[in-house]
Formats: sequence, structure tokens, C-alpha cells
Amino acid sequence: MAEAKSIQAVKGMNDIRPGATEAFLDTAVWQKIFAAAAAVMESFGFRRVWLPVVEPTALFQRGIGTDTDIVAKEMYSFSDRGERSLTLRPEGTAGAVRAYVEHNLARVDPIQRWWYAGPMFRAESPQKGRYRQFYQIGAELLGIADPAADAELLWMLWQLCGRLGLFEVAVRVNSVGDNDSRKAYRAVLRDYLGRHMTELCESCKARLDTNPLRVLDCKRAPCRTVVDGAPDILDAMTPAARQHFDKVLALLQALKVPFERDPRLVRGLDYYTGTTFELTTRALGAQDAILGGGRYDNLVEELGGMPTPAVGFAAGVERLALLVAAAGVPAVGPDLYLVPMAGAEVLAFLLADGIRSDGRYKVEVGAGRLKQQMKHADRTGARFALVLGEDELTSRRGKLKNLRATSVEEVALEPSALLGVLARSP
Ligand code: AMP
Repeated sequence: MAEAKSIQAVKGMNDIRPGATEAFLDTAVWQKIFAAAAAVMESFGFRRVWLPVVEPTALFQRGIGTDTDIVAKEMYSFSDRGERSLTLRPEGTAGAVRAYVEHNLARVDPIQRWWYAGPMFRAESPQKGRYRQFYQIGAELLGIADPAADAELLWMLWQLCGRLGLFEVAVRVNSVGDNDSRKAYRAVLRDYLGRHMTELCESCKARLDTNPLRVLDCKRAPCRTVVDGAPDILDAMTPAARQHFDKVLALLQALKVPFERDPRLVRGLDYYTGTTFELTTRALGAQDAILGGGRYDNLVEELGGMPTPAVGFAAGVERLALLVAAAGVPAVGPDLYLVPMAGAEVLAFLLADGIRSDGRYKVEVGAGRLKQQMKHADRTGARFALVLGEDELTSRRGKLKNLRATSVEEVALEPSALLGVLARSP
């Protein structure tokens, strides 16, 4: 029979798996990131939410803005069987705000600290650090207008980077001001950009009327040169917006979070108001942003809720994984690999249970031919292997093989004796 043709994953979508050839797709790296993120965010009082991966298309059109790259070009939208237009979520904030409004949390308790993790979908051209299904870990702090909330998020992110061993990270902050500041700035900016119209790329020319702030974001060299000479939004800010931003910066300074102000940082989504920030690193090349976020005080109201201030961030897991993997894939093999021969399975399961109940060690139990099991034990990176055959069943003693030191020690087949050896050896 001819072999069936195999089916490949959709372009730009990855399999995260144990022992992946590309280290940043290795399960061990991902688990390290998710564990660190959960531990840090939970310790700040953020609670996990699990939200749908599919939402009504209108949510993103209204939330993110039809003029943004994400909504205009990158969404995976489709009609379901009832002819409703649905979209695979391209980001997490719109869904979080939808849920906040839908469950009337402004009345229950307006202050919510939420965190989430999961896949996002954007039809971008895949390259290193940019995929069509990618994962984000994010948080939303709803209900607090005070600049301390913005600073707290950045402080939390700084802690998370430290925990992941990421120290070569630049913290870039800016503010896009409140509604009045933006209105004033748009006029000033439009005026300036209008005078440099011929130097701008076609998309920026089009943005001039609809959303001139987007031009600050353009990566093309000629537009960048124009933007370098553009007026600074700080000069167009209302005193209240300026005060808010100054306090965020003062808090970061007091907390010794090294940051740089980047007047160009407006971010690619329409919902930002006030503080915007990004953490970047040169280690990632062209896709240098590890995470981005900011304040979005209008979004809850725009999506039908009561006016509610909010600030949030989203980090790209693949990008974190590229950085973490560069420092080495964590060793995650079992501490002990039990190799039972026929008839010794129950002894193996019970011994394994006794050791697992201590809570510190991983035990994997094999099955099948001796040679095959030993080979697999080696491949998992296990610290110890122990064969359980007929002799061991009768004598209740066995030979514990240290796979790293290739030494052998005789032990009683009791969980306590095995635990003793595991605790003693590195
Ligand atoms: P954004 O939602 O566009 O503000 O992106 C937040 C973070 O998600 C970025 O800083 C990246 O780390 C990550 N990210 C965004 N788009 C992609 C993508 N297509 N592939 C991988 N990571 C992405």
C-alpha cells in the first residue's frame, strides 16, 4: 500500500513539544515561562481568567479600531453556520473588557486584577519572532485611574524579567495623553506632517487624515526621518495628563526601574490613552518587542460599559522563549526511571507512588523490553535508573544506577531508602 501523504501544520503555526529541535519551541522552556509568569502575577494579586479564543468580529473592529493593521489586514475572520461573523482573537484585551462589561463587574467590584495566557492569531508574514498563531501572557488592571497602577504593572514586569534571567531589556515609556491632549496633538502633528507630505510613504499619507499618530509608528526609513523632527506630544498635553505621566516616571525612578522615554511609542492599537510602554531587547533582531501595553481608559465605555480606567500589557511567549532558550533549555528529565520486567509492574507502580508522595521528585515507570527501556531512560535525561526483575522481587533489594556518574549503588526497595539516595545526589 502506498504511504498516505502526511499533513503539515498551517504556515506560521508551531508545535510546542518536549525536545523540540528549535530550543525556543521546547516544552521545558515554555513551562519555565508560564510558571514564572503565574508565580509573579499571582503574588501581585492578579487572578487567572480563561476567555474564549473566538469572539464576534465586531468586538475587535470596535475595540482595536478598523484603521489598525491588525483589524484591516491580519484578522482570521469567518462566518459560522448561523452566518455570524466571528474572529480568532488577535489579542486579549478586547475580550477581557467584553467579559468585564458582560458580567457587570463595575457594579460587583470595579477593581479587577486579571491575567491570562493563550493563543492569539494574526495573518502576518511569518519570520523569526513573528507567527500566525502565537501566545501571549497578559494582565489587565481595571478600575484604578491612579498612575501608581501603571507603575505597578511595569514594576511587576521588571520582576518577571528578573525571574526569567532577562537583564538586557530596555523599558521604553511614553504617553499618548488624554482625549484633549490627543486632540490638540493631532492638529499640531497633522500640520507638521502635512508640510512633509512628499517624504512620507503611501500608507502614512493615507493615515494623515484618519490617524496621524500612527505615522509615529512607521518603520520605513524616510518616515522615521520625518518623525524625528516632529513636535513632542508632551508639549501638547493637558496639565492633568502631564501630571499623570510625570508621576509614573517618578515612581519608576524611585523603584530604580531603568527606563527611557520614547516619544515615538504610540503602539499599534487604537485603544491606548495615557501611558504606553514596551520592553525591547536587541537580542531578538527585527522583532525586538518582548511585550507592550499601556492605559486604555476609554475602552470599557466604548464597549458598552460604565466609564472605567484600565491599564494592561501583553507579552509574546515565543519571544520570551527565544530569550530564555538562548540561556539553555532547562533539564527536566525524571529523577528516577524505574525499569520493571514482566511481573514487577505493581512493585514499580507502588515504589513510584511512595517516592512521588514526598512531593520533590519525578518518577517515570517504563514498560516493555529491557534494552528499549534503558535507551529511553537515557534519552529522557533521567538521573537514576533502577531495574526491577525476578531477583529484585525476591530479595527486595536493587541496583540503583546513577546515569550521570555511571556508578551503581545497592539499595533496599523501599521508598524511604530510594528517597535517601535521591536527596543525597545532585
Ligand atoms: P501587541 O498585542 O501587538 O501589542 O503585541 C504584544 C506582544 O505580543 C509583542 O510585543 C510581541 O512580543 C507579541 N507579538 C505580537 N504579534 C506577534 C506575532 N505575530 N508573533 C509573535 N509574537 C507576537
